[in-house]
Amino acid sequence: MVEIKQREAMDPAYQWDLSSVFESDETFELSLESLKEQLPEVTAFKGRLSESPEVLADAIDTLENYSRQLHTLYVYTSLKRDQDQGNDTYQRYEAQASQLLSEYAAATSFFQPELLAIDPEELEDFIRRSERLQFYRHYLEDATRQRKHVLSPAQEKLLAQAREVLSAHSDTFSLLNNADLSFGTIKDEAGQEVPLTHGSYSKYMESTDRRVRRDAFEGLYAQYEQFKNTFASLVSTQMKSGNFRAKARHYDSARQAALDSHNISEDVYDTLVDTVNEALPLLHEYVALRKDMLGLDTLEMYDMYTPLLGDPPISFTYDEAKDVVLKALAPLGSDYTAILTRAFDEKWIDVYENKGKRSGAYSSGSYDTKPYILMNWQDGLNSLYTLVHELGHSVHSELSNTHQAYVYSNYPIFLAEIASTTNENLLTQYLLDTYQDKETQAYVLNHFLDGVKGTVFRQTQFAEFEHFMYTQEAAGEPLTAQFLSKHYQELNAKYYGSSVNSDSQIALEWARIPHFYYNYYVYQYATGFSAATYFAQGILKGEAGMLESYVNFLKSGSKDYPIAIMQEAGLDMTQTDYIQATLNAFNERLQAFKAL
Ligand SMILES: [Zn+2]
Repeated sequence: MVEIKQREAMDPAYQWDLSSVFESDETFELSLESLKEQLPEVTAFKGRLSESPEVLADAIDTLENYSRQLHTLYVYTSLKRDQDQGNDTYQRYEAQASQLLSEYAAATSFFQPELLAIDPEELEDFIRRSERLQFYRHYLEDATRQRKHVLSPAQEKLLAQAREVLSAHSDTFSLLNNADLSFGTIKDEAGQEVPLTHGSYSKYMESTDRRVRRDAFEGLYAQYEQFKNTFASLVSTQMKSGNFRAKARHYDSARQAALDSHNISEDVYDTLVDTVNEALPLLHEYVALRKDMLGLDTLEMYDMYTPLLGDPPISFTYDEAKDVVLKALAPLGSDYTAILTRAFDEKWIDVYENKGKRSGAYSSGSYDTKPYILMNWQDGLNSLYTLVHELGHSVHSELSNTHQAYVYSNYPIFLAEIASTTNENLLTQYLLDTYQDKETQAYVLNHFLDGVKGTVFRQTQFAEFEHFMYTQEAAGEPLTAQFLSKHYQELNAKYYGSSVNSDSQIALEWARIPHFYYNYYVYQYATGFSAATYFAQGILKGEAGMLESYVNFLKSGSKDYPIAIMQEAGLDMTQTDYIQATLNAFNERLQAFKAL
């Protein structure tokens, strides 16, 4: 095993350069102090928003300007902390910046209610009279469009006070699932006794030793079985709480309320679920193929993740990968690849693992910083996919930051995953075009098929079950463990088909999904991946205007609602076509994979 080095012992050529954010820790400290002192300038607008258009515009400018500086401070401390989590100084800085964020949120809590208190006609008159406010029109409309779902001040106060109680079950789930639950040990491939944890469970699911997979699966679910009534009670409280809040705010349903936060219509959700349901025979075909390739009489759910093809036949070092990235993303045009070159040359990326560095990968930055990337590079194909994914987020941020004012620069997750997975799609096609040998073709096709299985099919399965739980609860059905397991098992059988045995502990999977506590979040993975496949295909085919529309979307930030931004890019996400295009690509590549 290779020893993981201290950060100081690593080559700085492969570390991000944060000196352009703050030259030194001293300049950071000075900025933090000065920003703390400016907080009263924000609160000075309390009680004054309705005075005149000029005062309202001044208030927005002041708040936005403050938030912009604060965001940069926070990004600096969180990146510094993540590069070495053992560093006390940066832990402290991060805590100080978080503290100031909370103080800012409290200091500006007057803003929304006061804005809503201005009569709609008067606000419209304000906007008409002030050019400065015209620039903020979308911002103001977005801030006030939920007017009819805002309650009286006394009711709002009560709801705010009840907020912690209404979400306590989510913390309880987290503590039970991550801290209290213990899965004991299993014997690994070498017969060594090893602890079973959430992290090692995913690793053992990919084991090529079936006995290890089975022991991990049964060991994990035994614990969920033991506490299934508690988990049912927790997840049921999530649905009760969501339904209660939706009802209190005069929404028809919890889903309508959740999607309304980004002005997304429920059609988008229903279209996804319906379209994916019609295509389930394709997933059944893929699962049947897995059963054949593994040569099993009965395919179990713990056989779903073991690799069909062993190690990747091609592998890249980071330096080789830079060249692959530029070639694979060349279809996005020279302006796009010029930004990629800057990402490499200006050291946006913290490449390798070091002692204390945060695991995984992300893209993060503020309006005034570079959109940095943290990753833990390992030679191979997975890190290459991670790199193009995170670069997709970073270029999206760079373009939105360059082309939008701060107030419209921040895009929602619904759009974010489109930019990152479009790049993954382009990489897949590049690898298929470039490496014609049978082994690489099969490996890359399989990687794509697993991507659609995990992101489109599986996340839609979760989305369908999540909605089922909310609607059943709303209809007065008690969400007992038995009820949830029965329906989860049926859903699992519907999605994966008759080649796999769904009559197992998989019925309890609902108990261990943290995303069921995220309030209608998971569907966005499936819509994002599908939209990305649609764009990547159109760009590669050279469809007229497709590239231009796509790049325009990347420049749009949040200047409009996400569905409208997609509409402008030529994609109507209330319709089924873009999901259909993705499922067609799945089918074509499934047949190609079978032929190999
Ligand atoms: Zn992402």
